[in-house]
Amino acid sequence: MAEKKFSVAIDIGHSKARVGAMSARGVGEFYFNRDIAQKLLIKLKNKFKHSFIINPKGGKISLSRRAKIAKEKKADILISIHHDSVQEEYLSFWKYQEKKHYYSDIYSGYSLFVTTNKVTKDKNFLLASHIGEMLRKNNFLYSRHHSEKIKGENRKIINKTAGIYEFNDLIILKKSLLPTVLVECGIIVNRKDEMNLSEEHYQNKLVNAIYQGIENYALKLKID
Ligand SMILES: [Zn+2]
Repeated sequence: MAEKKFSVAIDIGHSKARVGAMSARGVGEFYFNRDIAQKLLIKLKNKFKHSFIINPKGGKISLSRRAKIAKEKKADILISIHHDSVQEEYLSFWKYQEKKHYYSDIYSGYSLFVTTNKVTKDKNFLLASHIGEMLRKNNFLYSRHHSEKIKGENRKIINKTAGIYEFNDLIILKKSLLPTVLVECGIIVNRKDEMNLSEEHYQNKLVNAIYQGIENYALKLKID
């Protein structure tokens, strides 16, 4: 059965050495990404047992190498797990445990990024649509801040219900040879989002929604 062979490559965004964004309470994005990636893998393995994490140790590894590993290990799709920040002009300081940190409570929610200019474009969109649909059904809302007409954003929303943005210059998406979606799980500079995203129950709910989206995509392809 094709379904049983279906395999997902999960990319933990960033690395231990370069953690990505910094949360409102001073935790590196990488650690949020790793939590979600590990939970997602466990969930996926029940049904799609060949699924794997591209960079389980969180070492330094280039984005093109990540894309290559996914292809070499014969994954069907690539899911890159990230947590979001906002543009600098929205950041302010606050004190948490005697330390100053950046935060911004203006924006909240997940975002999905895909390319629209590659051979995989239809599948990218289909996969993202399924993930976004399940996130929405589970009461997750997406953030519109990436579509704001300011420097560094100004991205086109290509599915206003599912929260899918076009991002053709994002390197992991560009390099990937598979249908790929980059998931920004939430905004870790937002103090409320960060609290939620640190919580086991919320993480499980998020992972279940992403998982269901992937499963629906796999089923849909099988039917097609
Ligand atoms: Zn990131």
